[in-house]
Amino acid sequence: MELGKIVKVSGPLVVAEGLTNAKMYDMVRVGKEKLIGEIIELRGGFASIQVYEETSGLGPEDPVLSTGEPLSVELGPGLLSSIYDGIQRPLDVIRSVAGDFVIRGVDAPAINREKKWHFKPLVKKGDTVTAGDFLGEVEETSIIKHKIMVPPQFQKATVKEIFEGDFTVEERVAILEFEGKEHEVKMLNQWPVRKARPYKRKLAPYAPLITGQRVIDTFFPIAKGGTACVPGPFGSGKTVIQHQLAKWADAEIVVFIGCGERGNEMTDVLIELPQLLDPYTGKPLMERTILIANTSNMPVAAREASIYTGITLAEYFRDMGYNVALQADSTSRWAEALREISGRLEEMPGEEGYPAYLGSRLAAFYERSGRVVCLGSDNREGTLTAIGSVSPPGGDLSEPVVQATLRIVKVFWGLEDRLAYERHFPAINWLISYSLYLDKIEEYWGEQVAQDYKNLHDEAMKILQREAELKEIVRLVGIDALSPEERILMEGAKSIREDFLQQNAFNELDSFTSLKKQYYLLRLIIHFYQLSLKAFQQGKPLNEILEAKVKEKIARAKFVPEEKLEEIKKIEKEVEKELQVEAVRTKNGRQGC
Ligand code: ADP
Repeated sequence: MELGKIVKVSGPLVVAEGLTNAKMYDMVRVGKEKLIGEIIELRGGFASIQVYEETSGLGPEDPVLSTGEPLSVELGPGLLSSIYDGIQRPLDVIRSVAGDFVIRGVDAPAINREKKWHFKPLVKKGDTVTAGDFLGEVEETSIIKHKIMVPPQFQKATVKEIFEGDFTVEERVAILEFEGKEHEVKMLNQWPVRKARPYKRKLAPYAPLITGQRVIDTFFPIAKGGTACVPGPFGSGKTVIQHQLAKWADAEIVVFIGCGERGNEMTDVLIELPQLLDPYTGKPLMERTILIANTSNMPVAAREASIYTGITLAEYFRDMGYNVALQADSTSRWAEALREISGRLEEMPGEEGYPAYLGSRLAAFYERSGRVVCLGSDNREGTLTAIGSVSPPGGDLSEPVVQATLRIVKVFWGLEDRLAYERHFPAINWLISYSLYLDKIEEYWGEQVAQDYKNLHDEAMKILQREAELKEIVRLVGIDALSPEERILMEGAKSIREDFLQQNAFNELDSFTSLKKQYYLLRLIIHFYQLSLKAFQQGKPLNEILEAKVKEKIARAKFVPEEKLEEIKKIEKEVEKELQVEAVRTKNGRQGC
């Protein structure tokens, strides 16, 4: 603890002197109200502090107290279902203390200190344990077991005592002997937000994070432990897609960071998410979710904190061996905060005024995702998937934040307002989006779903790309310029777009599609296309192909319930019947097209 004083206040940046022992990223309390801040620059006896609360009213000579500790989050049972602000203050508790508007300097513990949890030991007295091993577990919510792990600093310790029963997070649940000394273990612990939590090693992502959204899972899949970026111009369906991901992604834990979006956009999330039910368990979705809300009317610097707070919480659950999905909305607002602070620090600006380290900051954030072997002797795996939205001004994808993000992430879902106006939802443009996990996921598809899944994917992509070229010709010289084969291709592409890519988030049967059903649907559509071509070559009239009755059934196939997938296969048979019978007939003498 060291006391200094303010010499200058510049928006969220405060410069103080007298903090001679302070280190970079130490947490400080600023002014009489003890606002929370972090040291981000030390130069010539002055410390520049980024303050995470509104700084109005602060002035020179006001006290600054250095805590000597880095900004940390609290970890332990009670995190799930919580709604926090950027520096992990629970909004519901603050509300009960301070009313609807967050007043400054409010201190509220992130984790409830009074609540008792039933701790069930998973080791015995006398056992030898290492960092990361499970000492016991707590039923945090009815769907998630919170594991209490041996803290990372204890490499090889002996369990001296372990207690079963109801404890608060501050009571000891075990005593470990490490290097001849006894240490009490409590369920509550801290971790500095800017430091990635340790793991044994990173593995290449393999399995897809199944989202039930066809355009994502079949065309641009993201792996568990992967990274994705989704730009969302206003009205392009960004909120809906985020909800769909939070709801359907097969991750056990979801951490949602609302980082500086407009207050009303965040309200949508804050009001709607707690009402959603988890489709896998039927329990409230919040039982596996942590929300971090940091709206644009809160101080910009807090956006930085919220990003780090969120990813640290996500890492903590990953360490328990869970699949965690982290959604950050939007990283552009965070980048804008970096720009503002950098400007006030009078650093040399890079492109469009963003600091030169924008790219490395973004990379350091996404780097904390991944599929890892966790600490602990059981070699369990955990994954952290990071999905960041970006909101480029005017939808301009060439601006620095999008470009810097695209250099890092491996999946890009290009949401487009043009498609949204055409009511094509999800409005992900299939021509600009990509996934670099396809090679890995292709193996998974082959093993878990069907050998020819990848071929179907490739064929569909080819058709869609060819359609884009042909559309250009049609636009210039009209549909008559196309050959019959090209007309059939255009129909095939239309079917892929309308019967596969378009998915109504609000239709019970359409909102989620399993991988198996996605495979059957695409197979049906491609089958129809290929047989159409064949039938034409064998002489079937073009108009009969284009107006085939079975097309109506193909269009409705996406509404076939999951438990009746056989029906989709039946439609395949009908396709064969309608196209091939005719083909035979034409062979026997009737004229084709
Ligand atoms: P944004 O957050 O980008 O401004 P929203 O997510 O609120 O846009 O979407 C705008 C509207 O688009 C929604 O109210 C909804 O009617 C429609 N929409 C978006 N995605 C879908 C979808 N997958 N299925 C059906 N409708 C959708």
